[in-house]
Amino acid sequence: MSFKVPRGTQDILPDQSEKWQQVEKVLRDLSHVYRYKEIRTPIFESTELFQRGVGDTTDIVQKEMYTFTDRGGRSLTLRPEGTAAAVRAYVEHKMFGQPDQPVKLSYIGPMFRYERQQAGRYRQFVQFGVEAIGSADPAIDAEVISFAMDIYKKVGLKDLKLVINSLGDKETRDAHRTALINHFEPSIGEFCSDCQKRLEKNPLRILDCKVDREHPLMANAPALTDYLTEYSAEYFTKVKDYLDRLGIPYEVDPNLVRGLDYYNHTAFEIMSTASGFGAITTLCGGGRYNGLVEDIGGPDAPGIGFALSIERLLLALEAEGVALQEDDQLDMYVVVMGEAAKAKAVELVSTFRANGISADMDYADRKMKAQMKTADRQGAKYVIVLGETELEEQAVNVKEMETGTQEKVAFAELVNFVLQK
Ligand code: ATP
Ligand code: MG
Repeated sequence: MSFKVPRGTQDILPDQSEKWQQVEKVLRDLSHVYRYKEIRTPIFESTELFQRGVGDTTDIVQKEMYTFTDRGGRSLTLRPEGTAAAVRAYVEHKMFGQPDQPVKLSYIGPMFRYERQQAGRYRQFVQFGVEAIGSADPAIDAEVISFAMDIYKKVGLKDLKLVINSLGDKETRDAHRTALINHFEPSIGEFCSDCQKRLEKNPLRILDCKVDREHPLMANAPALTDYLTEYSAEYFTKVKDYLDRLGIPYEVDPNLVRGLDYYNHTAFEIMSTASGFGAITTLCGGGRYNGLVEDIGGPDAPGIGFALSIERLLLALEAEGVALQEDDQLDMYVVVMGEAAKAKAVELVSTFRANGISADMDYADRKMKAQMKTADRQGAKYVIVLGETELEEQAVNVKEMETGTQEKVAFAELVNFVLQK
């Protein structure tokens, strides 16, 4: 009997996890400078939360959720995304009552979607996302977009494209909806069965269909931007002005509609334009969701956010050939010769670590040559060899591996020696 990871999931092995930690560090640092505080919500929530919060007509709710009944007969779902839970928490913990609005939240963690496996599409993947809830100021839209762009810049990506659109407000959407129905209805028979259902339920989502993308009626479909109300148009202009001010280039794509039902006004995606990137080029998606908080039982608080997956970010790094700065330096390897030396080595290694120096030693009573090989493989910066002579002298030769130079240092001075280098 042999076991493998479930389809669509992956092990992140030790030689990969360093990269993940580097990316997570960038995310943490930027969350700090942008002032988005972390929220941690459960991995599963009531199924209804996602039906409401993500929307009944979305791919996620219709065919991608991992839903199960627990022993108490409740329908629960492994979270497919983070916004619904963040908004639930905002309402449940009455964050709308806090004096400082918007409340700025960030989250990171695994999400689960039952999708067809392909490059860049997993069934368990890690999303980082932010939500700014409680403000309808176009400046916050620009802040959120700028935050997302900064993440990719900070990890070293260059081949990026920011695409934005406005989905308008309710009035916009109603007028556009009618226009879409008129446009598609006569030929709806030529579209996939999902689109046929969408025509009545949510025709906007036809524009987001992956099956009928090339249908000629898609290219000349009524554009949302032609139906913007005065308020929506002005809002969109302000968002674009702020982006110009921040020096963030963008393209307006009137057919950009996000997969989730609850978006309005600003919608955006960041894509990789790297030539080596596969078919799926969207790295990050986000937008404004005024109305969602109310749908989930809270007050009328507007919000905006984005989500990205670390898996796709890493794929983009690979496609551009960008290496993250790795930080897994082994500072000191202690080679041990004999039982008495081992006792001292255990002590020294512990002292190094207590002083923030990464240190390791042999735990297999191997010959000196084998231990030296390990030190080399692990890329140790310094090596010391502890034997009887060193114990007697209470001092040891510290070898700097890169240069091969050696210097005799008293045990009591070892930590200072390494730290001062
Ligand atoms: P797509 O059109 O690619 O299915 P989506 O609209 O379902 O994307 P969102 O729900 O907006 O995506 O998720 C935001 C981001 O999360 C995406 O831009 C992508 O980076 C990432 N993402 C979504 N689904 C997956 C997945 N199955 N595996 C890895 N990353 C994913
Ligand atoms: Mg999807």
